[in-house]
Amino acid sequence: MHLDVQTLTFVSLLMSIGASIGFTSLMTVLHNQAVMRTWVASLWIAAIGVLLIGLRGHIADFLSIVVGNGCIVLSNAATLKGIARHLDQPLRWRWPACLVAFYTAVIAWLTYATPDLHARIVIGSLQAVVFNLSYAYLLLRYGEAAIRTSCRIAAGIMLVNVGFFLVRSLLPMDPAAGQDLMKAGTPIAATYVIGILTGLASYFALLQLVTERLMVDLRRAAHTDGLTGLLNRSAIIAEGRASMARCQQRGQPFALLIFDLDHFKQINDRWGHDAGDDVLRHVTTILRDNTHWPGSLASRYGGEEFVLALPGATLTQALDVAERLRHALDHSHTWVDNQCIAVTASIGVAAARAGARFEQLVRQADEAMYRTKFDGRNGVSLAGMDGMRLAEAGDSRC
Ligand code: GH3
Ligand code: MG
Ligand code: MG
Repeated sequence: MHLDVQTLTFVSLLMSIGASIGFTSLMTVLHNQAVMRTWVASLWIAAIGVLLIGLRGHIADFLSIVVGNGCIVLSNAATLKGIARHLDQPLRWRWPACLVAFYTAVIAWLTYATPDLHARIVIGSLQAVVFNLSYAYLLLRYGEAAIRTSCRIAAGIMLVNVGFFLVRSLLPMDPAAGQDLMKAGTPIAATYVIGILTGLASYFALLQLVTERLMVDLRRAAHTDGLTGLLNRSAIIAEGRASMARCQQRGQPFALLIFDLDHFKQINDRWGHDAGDDVLRHVTTILRDNTHWPGSLASRYGGEEFVLALPGATLTQALDVAERLRHALDHSHTWVDNQCIAVTASIGVAAARAGARFEQLVRQADEAMYRTKFDGRNGVSLAGMDGMRLAEAGDSRC
């Protein structure tokens, strides 16, 4: 088998253009994945680099060697920037840009000052080692739990690339090649074949990163209430059941509270629906700021009704949380167009008995909450304790 570098460069070019077209068309549907733009730019820059290198002998050496190699390293820097962005890690352009400038200057030096093709191949391989190591480091260090599978697989592929480029930097070159890369000999030509393989694997690694992030985003969106960012009804039921089952297995208590805003319809009627939405967001902030509890699950259960599950909490502890929340709401106000809107809530608290189900607990807390409404609102009632109202209405005036 004869491995011809020119033919292999042509195949690399086709693969590179194919990947660029594929990623570009994917970007049109995955436009919410901001990282796609960076990777698409990186792929097109790489394709231009491969094209320029493949045109060696047909265009000026400066374009083919210096600009061509500069494009390859710039593409690597853009891939790195994209990976950092994907992992929500700030990465300034400064040090990748320095690396690009330094590498391009070295390539120019090895082309004009002391022409040395073998040194250019070694330096080219070493820059790929540095970038692939950086990719793998970022992916392993900063890949959050939800996207860890794709991060680990991608890091594994990048580390294989590191090994491949290290070997490439050690390979001998045909001494008769002079400065002509196309005559570098079979070992160097063989690296082009392996390079096509690892290149393909790298494209799929990037795709897998985007796909897993997309799945996580979709799952999160399906579980989240759009207005408040809290869990939605189906998510609190699913997660509440699981949390309660864990507590029951460990013999720990479990309690929850449900609260409904008082006279919320009047707020909508008087200040408008948008103001009502502002109040719901304000209530969410108060809920988050005043109910710190390890493993707690907060949800918008319905229109102006919220559920807070407290794994490990006894009835007394849940009551304490409920009263703190009621008091905080009672003493807070939402400002809309310089108008002060006061809001209070009626709360029901229930604690799990042996063998109880999550939905049963919600129902019991709901009944207690309605008792609070009946008793005058802005208070807390306990499930299973008829007539027991534990907090008196406070002052909710602005
Ligand atoms: P009560 O004290 O008895 O709970 O009285 P209420 O007015 O709070 O209860 P009611 O069930 O009569 O009205 C609830 C209102 O909540 C009616 C509905 O328009 C409003 N609502 C439900 N979801 C939203 C929402 O997402 N945004 C806004 N702005 N209003 C909502
Ligand atoms: Mg209400
Ligand atoms: Mg209601």
